[in-house]
Amino acid sequence: MINEIIPLGNPDIREEDIEAAASVLRTGMLIQGSHVKQLESNIENFTSVSNCTAVSSGTAALHLALLALEIEKGDEVIVPALSFIATANVVEVVGAKSIFVDIDPVYNTILVGDIEKKITSKTKAIIAVHEFGLCADMPSILAIAKKHDIPVLEDAACAIGSKIKEKFAGTFGEIGTFSLHPRKAITSGEGGIVVTNDHRLGNLIKTLRNHGIKFDSNPIRFSHAGLNYRLTDFQAALVNSQFQRFDKALSKKAKLAEIYLNSIQHPALKLPEVPNDFVHSWQTFHLLVEDNHLRNKLIKSLADSNIFTNYGAQCIPYMSYYQKKYNHNVEVEFPNALRAYECGLAIPLYDKLTEKQVLDISKIINKFK
Ligand SMILES: *Cc1c(COP(=O)(O)O)cnc(C)c1O
Repeated sequence: MINEIIPLGNPDIREEDIEAAASVLRTGMLIQGSHVKQLESNIENFTSVSNCTAVSSGTAALHLALLALEIEKGDEVIVPALSFIATANVVEVVGAKSIFVDIDPVYNTILVGDIEKKITSKTKAIIAVHEFGLCADMPSILAIAKKHDIPVLEDAACAIGSKIKEKFAGTFGEIGTFSLHPRKAITSGEGGIVVTNDHRLGNLIKTLRNHGIKFDSNPIRFSHAGLNYRLTDFQAALVNSQFQRFDKALSKKAKLAEIYLNSIQHPALKLPEVPNDFVHSWQTFHLLVEDNHLRNKLIKSLADSNIFTNYGAQCIPYMSYYQKKYNHNVEVEFPNALRAYECGLAIPLYDKLTEKQVLDISKIINKFK
């Protein structure tokens, strides 16, 4: 039993962050001011990318990315079978077909060996998801994409700060997206980010974010049918303030993850693994439990000790809309994604946790029978 309640996630919003947002509110200039531009240049500098667009959610970021890539009805998009459901929902919303690929059973990212089997003349994009904050195998995915001349969209919602060698998640493919949801590493409440090194795509995304008003046009021109997916200036100020200690937050989380890795020892649990040269940002610390019954029992038992956990991500083709539309034999076609969905467990990991709390949680997990 732990005396205080330990939620699964808990954003580190400090007084200085609140003051940063409040000072924008006091000016009355709530949108389209300097703080959104500052956020965009912060992310450009951090990830070494040439074009960043701040938007109203991670899902809006994915939607704009697909619109900018001109994905539409009749097209097919490769999507990993395990992710947060938004990754596939946006494909459906633009009228394209989600072509699911199973995941690697150890790393939870798209099973690279299965991608080519699913490519057809209609394939218009591959979405790679950096699940739980671990990069997908981008070198292999990019090689396949290049061979077939298909753009790669990285859903890096969980992966600001994740890397392969020195290269940041979100910067491998044509377009990358991040989320600023409270469960993610830095937050504006709702918010998202799109990054690209393609100037034309970047300007198109900025145009589509703002009602289709051509970016940087003077006098203004309504050149596209766009949306309003803008982030507010006070939200951007909240993020910019947190961003100043982002490197520290990442290293604290890495340290806490290391403690879990060294202290959780249980015959029914498999710990996450990180390939050589990959830098995990630990958005989620994800365990694989022996079976579904035991996973559910563990969730309940930890909750009785005031430790709140949940399953990690959805097996998307198994969710009712997708089951009805595509009627996949999920057990046979996506066994690894189904197993991660039914037996996966996300445990608390955020930079506000102390090392002692993480040790205590580990001990309680180890005692589970
Ligand atoms: C959180 C998340 C999203 C959606 O982000 P929102 O900001 O909540 O819209 C999309 N994809 C993945 C993989 C996510 O984890």
